[in-house]
Amino acid sequence: MLNISVELNSDNRKTMPDFGLELGFGKVFSDLMLLADFKNGMWANHRIVPFSKVSLHPASTILHYGAQIFEGLKAYRTAIGDIQLFRPIENLKRLNQSADRLCLPQIEEKDFLEMLTKFISLQKDFVPKTAGSSLYLRPVIFGNDETLGVYPPQSATFMLIASPVGSYYKGGLTPVKILVEQEDIRAAVGGTGAVKAGGNYAASLRATQKAINKSYNQVLWLDAKHKKYIEEVGAMNVFFVIDNTVVTPALTGSILPGITRASCIELLKYKGIKVEEKQISIKDIVSAIKNKTLTESFGTGTAAVVAPIGTIGYQGKDYIIGGNKIGCITQELYDTLTGIQFGNVVDTFGWSYKI
Ligand SMILES: *Cc1c(COP(=O)(O)O)cnc(C)c1O
Repeated sequence: MLNISVELNSDNRKTMPDFGLELGFGKVFSDLMLLADFKNGMWANHRIVPFSKVSLHPASTILHYGAQIFEGLKAYRTAIGDIQLFRPIENLKRLNQSADRLCLPQIEEKDFLEMLTKFISLQKDFVPKTAGSSLYLRPVIFGNDETLGVYPPQSATFMLIASPVGSYYKGGLTPVKILVEQEDIRAAVGGTGAVKAGGNYAASLRATQKAINKSYNQVLWLDAKHKKYIEEVGAMNVFFVIDNTVVTPALTGSILPGITRASCIELLKYKGIKVEEKQISIKDIVSAIKNKTLTESFGTGTAAVVAPIGTIGYQGKDYIIGGNKIGCITQELYDTLTGIQFGNVVDTFGWSYKI
């Protein structure tokens, strides 16, 4: 057992404050946060304190060398008022893989679960009650040595903050428009693309902004070496339905292994739908759209769960998928996954984790 100290907010809020009609994503926060310090080879000083600014030494590693990794998961309120997480151990495993890649300290599974459980138990009132809303949890680890020396961080901070978020889709699933990016790359094999490092996001913004300026929602990333094979859509994994087989890029070292991605693959196989993980070229995708064998495409990730793709812009042309409508497989995956997350569909996989 960890010794987690608790300092409650002075105004000790017992109900979720009125954040207004629109929760959106990541704009408002719960009233507490959890911190822990890594020093002399171990984690110590676990504390839950009022949500507040974090103070850093001006030479802190995070401010200079990008030593930062994070995770994203949600706490869901079920119809009977229970609070549950979705596969949190997978988030911890991935956090530790990210830590390994960036020479940051790892966290033990039992400690991670204990911190999550204690924190969420104290923040239950911030898990929204409105349909489709949830409490987004953001664990972060950053290097915090107070020196400009360049070496693996000897000191680090663990921080857990929480943000009540609305449903990604206000009026049901809506298809997005994506642009194939042909200059910038998101990640290369051997780099940090397969782990959740903040720096990956920083490097992806320019292309994303360019796509938005051309009235697309997101970027479709190609592989770094050949600029030929499809990797991800924005910060989501990507799927296509071709001839009734679901295909998704294989995890070849530069793709983030999404937990939603893995869950979709398992669900599809369970439902008897054929799934293939393989290299997929953008040329093959465009021909399959043209000859109408490609009927659906979608992105997957914790924030949106499933995002249907209606248009792909490539070399100056827009290619429309499935009449820009939500495909059957896309809709079914969305309904089943959100059903399990909110406790409305029986979880035969053991994915739900009750708080
Ligand atoms: C987090 C993330 C995803 C989605 O992962 P989930 O575990 O499904 O939320 C996909 N791609 C990138 C680049 C990510 O950072």
